[in-house]
Amino acid sequence: MHITLKETAAKMLEAENLVITTHVNPDGDALGSSLALYHMLVRLGKNVEVLVDDDIPESFGFLPDIEAIQKPEKESYPADYLIMLDVSKDRIGQVLNKCQAPIINIDHHRTNDGEADFLYLDAEKAATAEIIYQLAQELTVTPDSAVALCIYTGLSTDTGNFRFSNTSAFTLRAAADMVEAGAQPHVVSEALEKRSFKEVLDRAKAMETIEMAMEGRVAGIFIDNVLYETLDTTEGFIDGVRIIDGVDVAVLMKEVEPGKCRVSMRSKGVDVSVIATEFGGGGHVRAAGCTIEEPLVEAKTKLLEVISRHI
Ligand code: AMP
Ligand code: MN
Ligand code: MN
Repeated sequence: MHITLKETAAKMLEAENLVITTHVNPDGDALGSSLALYHMLVRLGKNVEVLVDDDIPESFGFLPDIEAIQKPEKESYPADYLIMLDVSKDRIGQVLNKCQAPIINIDHHRTNDGEADFLYLDAEKAATAEIIYQLAQELTVTPDSAVALCIYTGLSTDTGNFRFSNTSAFTLRAAADMVEAGAQPHVVSEALEKRSFKEVLDRAKAMETIEMAMEGRVAGIFIDNVLYETLDTTEGFIDGVRIIDGVDVAVLMKEVEPGKCRVSMRSKGVDVSVIATEFGGGGHVRAAGCTIEEPLVEAKTKLLEVISRHI
């Protein structure tokens, strides 16, 4: 059932024990939004746990209280509500079984499945962090520098550092407010752009796999499991193909286990969320992802076939 942001805030304010969760393979919006809300609810005197059923990339170590995030290792997590951010039920892993509380879902993905007990969905927003920024006002919490840094991180990462087409005047105003409240933009960009020498060399190896298709309108990096196992990160690789002149759809496909490929897509025009949805994934018009349970070559063929129907 859809609820307003005011109702969302009211539910949080009346609760005592809350669990916050977000998607596996967490990004800056997932972690920034979760920790910003964590800080605000703790300040309001709530008992709050943050659970993420995945490893947290080390690069997010600069986020205040990142160590508060736990894996769902206990048998169960009783709570008044499970607050699910930046995701639908299908990508929170074990948290779904272990926390049986009614779900409050806050999201900006147009492909949200709408299955939460209480849903606040705003697909016009560039990041869940924009909604958390608005929610702060409803909770009557003034963001301190910790909350500001977390929200700024979400805004920045989901907009490609305020460069993608989802960047709006609202995004920039929210970011300005967060800088005023103490977030330092260079802290975020330096932490997230930093790469080891090995990672720079890895990126060069991955770039060698670039293939063009559909007369240069599609370009992809295709990383088989052997190469994948040698890489420390694939973060940002897709930006290397997205910028090729004439490319509409950029793809990063990586075989994370033999026979299982994780796909990221970016586009300049085509609605890639529709393509991702055909494979059980989702996302936004210009940034989407899915997992294809096939070896790399077969997954590539299937993906390119679906892209060709939409381009
Ligand atoms: P990524 O390429 O991982 O940065 O993801 C791009 C967008 O697609 C993000 O908004 C993700 O939340 C969404 N997305 C990625 N993978 C999936 C998936 N398997 N299911 C649903 N949404 C996804
Ligand atoms: Mn996300
Ligand atoms: Mn997001």
